[in-house]
Amino acid sequence: MKRLGIFGSTGSIGVNALEILRAHPDRFQVTCLSANRNSELLARQALEFRPEAVCLCDEGQVEELKRRLAGTRIRVLQGQAGLATMARELAFDMMVGAIVGSAGLVPTLEAIRTGKDIALANKETLVVAGEIVNELKTRHGVKLIPIDSEHSALFQCMVGERPETIRRLILTASGGPFLFTPSEEFEHITVEQALRHPNWNMGAKITIDSATLINKGLEVIEAHWLFGVEPDKIEVVIHPQSIVHSMVEFVDSSVKAQLGLPDMKVPIQYALSYPERMRNGLEAVDFVKLKQLDFFAPDRQKFRSLSLAFDALKELGTVPAVMNAANEVVVDRFLKKQIRFADIPAYIEEAMERGPRKTRPSLEDVLEADRWAREFVARRIDRRA
Ligand code: NDP
Repeated sequence: MKRLGIFGSTGSIGVNALEILRAHPDRFQVTCLSANRNSELLARQALEFRPEAVCLCDEGQVEELKRRLAGTRIRVLQGQAGLATMARELAFDMMVGAIVGSAGLVPTLEAIRTGKDIALANKETLVVAGEIVNELKTRHGVKLIPIDSEHSALFQCMVGERPETIRRLILTASGGPFLFTPSEEFEHITVEQALRHPNWNMGAKITIDSATLINKGLEVIEAHWLFGVEPDKIEVVIHPQSIVHSMVEFVDSSVKAQLGLPDMKVPIQYALSYPERMRNGLEAVDFVKLKQLDFFAPDRQKFRSLSLAFDALKELGTVPAVMNAANEVVVDRFLKKQIRFADIPAYIEEAMERGPRKTRPSLEDVLEADRWAREFVARRIDRRA
């Protein structure tokens, strides 16, 4: 029986992970769950899966959660400190890192420090602190298995291969809802349009990131840290059908790809059961019905945020943390209709130009860069308003 801690259990990845657990009660057991604000869903999940502890980060909702869990023996923790305590003190085998944003970093580091394996969806953790995560992971001998569909695809393509035989990683990108929208129309894009992803049903932040294509840039950085492949050997190709989830090219010019219909349950399940594969009732690709698979280069001028992420990968140090935090703020403000879609890259770029630049940063440096960028971008937006 594998004991799991699901951090971010009320989100899109968390809910999908719990659906897999529901289908395999003989293999997995839930030790702890967490949410930011959604006390109602967290309580329902806790009453169904009976974890030892739950944590709610928004302390204003905690009394409500305690009321809903009254009469059970489930321990209720709160705030970011509670999240770190839960990651450190509870005894589980694997963390499902499904928190959105850099808020996932500290609990992930705590889980690694206490020897838990990580099934990682929370790409921002690797973007802001990839080197720190890798160093700790090696020191504590834990496994880090990607959930992100592209990285799961790359991971699956590499099983049985020697790292030195890899020539190139090719990440596929759907291109999002504005792939064919002329850039002149970007200033009129509404929140509702940006939230309508053509292929994937995901949380709001990653859906906006997919519309600006910064999501693919975050994934390139994530791939660098996960697989130790140099930046100039990682490429992005637009593939609007989202059937080929990513590819690895080897030194003999052979290319391996992983294919499937777009459903996050497949990579989540693979991360939970690796190295085994478990059965499920999901549909597979029907090659006869597939009319065509297209691939073409991304337009880096139109999707400027993608270029910014490649710039951050070239510099590394604290620059990706600044870029990521700036992006988290602008996405939040765009969702609140306080800035325009077209203005997103300019705020990120300005933060990257002016932000702290430290090579081989410590955790404190990374957290400070994150804090700086959040304040800087928030001030910029408020001033312009
Ligand atoms: P959601 O927004 O759907 O869920 C996020 C989860 O994190 C929720 O449980 C939320 O709680 C919690 N949360 C939000 N903010 C905080 C915070 N500040 N502190 C602690 N917990 C917080 O996100 P997704 O499930 O879509 O994405 C999660 C991660 O997985 C992201 O990093 C994303 O990039 C990555 N990912 C997601 C994919 C997808 O298909 N959704 C695909 C590949 C990667 P509450 O519900 O209370 O707000």
